[in-house]
Amino acid sequence: MSSAHISLALRRLVEERAAFRCEYCLLPASVAFLRPHEADHIVAEKHGGATEAKNLALACWRCNRHKGTDLASLDPATSDLTRLFNPRTQVWHVHVRLEGAQLVGITAEGRTTVRLLRLDTPERTIERQRLISLGHYPQTP
Ligand SMILES: [Zn+2]
Repeated sequence: MSSAHISLALRRLVEERAAFRCEYCLLPASVAFLRPHEADHIVAEKHGGATEAKNLALACWRCNRHKGTDLASLDPATSDLTRLFNPRTQVWHVHVRLEGAQLVGITAEGRTTVRLLRLDTPERTIERQRLISLGHYPQTP
């Protein structure tokens, strides 16, 4: 979630660092027609997270809404309390794998993030399949 003012320069840094893709679901900003991607506070301000580059990630509108101010959730495989994937300190493909058009968590953090951010709903998978077939979805992050 974002409420602090983020300067244009900082937003630009966040966008370019992310290669203009959501850092949770990899949705390209260029196909987010209705709602632009946002600079997400990885650690929300309510938990003491600062508005600085190392605490910001580019997130599509849906990922950002589902993440909200959450830092963690329950791993659907073990029910263990698990931190969410952190794009600044972790590598996406270590935690999440693209299987066809489905995003599958392959670690506790990956599974927890896929579920909480609802990366694997039929709606999002169908959208991803269409983007893949049009060559608009990255096959590798
Ligand atoms: Zn996303």
